[in-house]
Amino acid sequence: MSVAGAEMRRVAGAFATGVTVVTAAHGVVPCGLTVNSFASVSLEPPLVLVCISRRARAHSGIEAAGGFAVNVLAEGQEGVARLFASLAEDKFTGLDHRPSPAGHPLLAGTCAWLDCEVVASHAAGTHTIHVGRVTALDTTARPPLLFHRGRYTLLAE
Ligand SMILES: Cc1cc2nc3c(=O)[nH]c(=O)nc-3n(C[C@H](O)[C@H](O)[C@H](O)COP(=O)(O)OP(=O)(O)OC[C@H]3O[C@@H](n4cnc5c(N)ncnc54)[C@H](O)[C@@H]3O)c2cc1C
Repeated sequence: MSVAGAEMRRVAGAFATGVTVVTAAHGVVPCGLTVNSFASVSLEPPLVLVCISRRARAHSGIEAAGGFAVNVLAEGQEGVARLFASLAEDKFTGLDHRPSPAGHPLLAGTCAWLDCEVVASHAAGTHTIHVGRVTALDTTARPPLLFHRGRYTLLAE
């Protein structure tokens, strides 16, 4: 049985996720995109993965940097998610951010962040699965932004 892309999107969208912005800085040019394919892989060693479209500008940015930061978005950051999912040329000007210990952009107001060094990259269909070793991280008490069935949503009380 073959599965159409639209059907795959409809059914996979039933799986609720958080929303992250994956950023990378190589030299002076930062890149970033909205990503919900983030997953925690292993605790010891600490590994995560993200799946990045080979067509995204950020794909080459992450490869060149050899690492990335995962910014876990919080309630109230839907505008940030929309910005980083857009084709905007410059997604960082006017946005409050600071460098992570590894030098990748950390956005203000998130609920968590992780600095990652790429330790493996696997081609998978239209995407590359980057496995990152976590080198620094932190979290706050802010509640998360969620994504479900193609819409941004929040945790119910
Ligand atoms: C909730 C959510 C989760 C997401 N999760 C993921 C994820 O896990 N992995 C992932 O790879 N993406 C994901 N995306 C999509 C991603 O955020 C966007 O594709 C984003 O625009 C990529 O940013 P970029 O700057 O890297 O690439 P961009 O340069 O913005 O390119 C993005 C896409 O647009 C095309 N494009 C670029 N310029 C033009 C143009 N001038 N005209 C027409 N098309 C153009 C590119 O070929 C590419 O396919 C997600 C989006 C949302 C909303």
